Amino acid sequence: MGESETKLPPGMVIGPDGKPCKACSSGAAFKNWGKTALAGAAAVTKPLRTQCPPDKDQLGRATWTFLHTAAAYYPTQPTPAQRTQMLALIHALPALYPCNHCAEDFGASVAQSPPDVSGRAGLSRWFCERHNEVNEKLGKVAFDCAKTDERWKEGPKDGSCD
Ligand SMILES: Cc1cc2nc3c(=O)[nH]c(=O)nc-3n(C[C@H](O)[C@H](O)[C@H](O)COP(=O)(O)OP(=O)(O)OC[C@H]3O[C@@H](n4cnc5c(N)ncnc54)[C@H](O)[C@@H]3O)c2cc1C
Repeated sequence: MGESETKLPPGMVIGPDGKPCKACSSGAAFKNWGKTALAGAAAVTKPLRTQCPPDKDQLGRATWTFLHTAAAYYPTQPTPAQRTQMLALIHALPALYPCNHCAEDFGASVAQSPPDVSGRAGLSRWFCERHNEVNEKLGKVAFDCAKTDERWKEGPKDGSCD
């Protein structure tokens, strides 16, 4: 490990371009980043937090929302073209997902467990299992994959999301 790397705040990850990668790092790592540079500035106008670039967790939540929702609305009997398109989407992630260490692990998971694009139920379960692998790695409780439709399409039976 080089001298410059040892000075990085905990949780800060360097991207493939050699610069701190916000989309690969925990938000806390970036909280104080650059504070020294800003100290002494007469007035700093901060953007609304909702308009800030995503950290790793914000990007993850948004991406899982898209992937699980796409699976929940995937046809029960997809056409060959729809299967091909879904496979292309999944296989693009290891190459294009901005958190590079997440992308790498996801690529290994896809290679280990080939995507089930045969229909809505199989695809929802497949994404759920991949997401649970990440949950496990991060020490989180596994999600009950029987509840993907309730979480991502129908909402709870008590009507609290209606
Ligand atoms: C492809 C991919 C790979 C990632 N790899 C990493 C990684 O290697 N390291 C890392 O630190 N972060 C990684 N992340 C981010 C990580 O998965 C979380 O998104 C992030 O830690 C925020 O977690 P969270 O607890 O807010 O909720 P998230 O885990 O983002 O979950 C959002 C919501 O999805 C629901 N949910 C949870 N689990 C499941 C499931 N199994 N099936 C269906 N719904 C579920 C829950 O309602 C939850 O509130 C990755 C994200 C993606 C999209």
